[in-house]
Amino acid sequence: MWQIKSDQQAWREDINHYEYGKFFHDIYKDYCNLKLKYFDSLSLKHLTEKLIILESKENRKLNVNQTTAYSRSVYIREFARRVSNGVCQLCDMDAPFHDTHGQPFLEVHHIHYLSKGGSDSIDNVIALCPNCHRKIHHLEIEEDVKKISDRAMSNMNI
Ligand SMILES: [Zn+2]
Ligand SMILES: [Zn+2]
Repeated sequence: MWQIKSDQQAWREDINHYEYGKFFHDIYKDYCNLKLKYFDSLSLKHLTEKLIILESKENRKLNVNQTTAYSRSVYIREFARRVSNGVCQLCDMDAPFHDTHGQPFLEVHHIHYLSKGGSDSIDNVIALCPNCHRKIHHLEIEEDVKKISDRAMSNMNI
């Protein structure tokens, strides 16, 4: 946790160093780049370890505040994207394009919807291409749901 806090502090300081004339858009873009650089520097193992620490803290109801919840969901999303290796976990095709940071564009889906009590945890998230993401929400085909559920379970063993 202290690591995340000190990283956040570093981003904040970087942002404070900008001249006043700079547009918010540029500052935000730089902020995203810094964040991306930070995530790139984490190994998958490191990422998983962080999640376990954050999760156990939440379970013990320690330090539960918005910052903790936000950090955890960011790590979970990053985990889902990272384990997918740029490949949609439903249709097995490469991401249709790369985002402005050069990362494969995939969306993170919660298999059991958060709105229906699903949890924000690594066994409940999966990276999908935009088409498959629409398809799963629109049709909810049992076979598809089973495939991504199995995938999410096996991602836990990585
Ligand atoms: Zn797909
Ligand atoms: Zn979704």
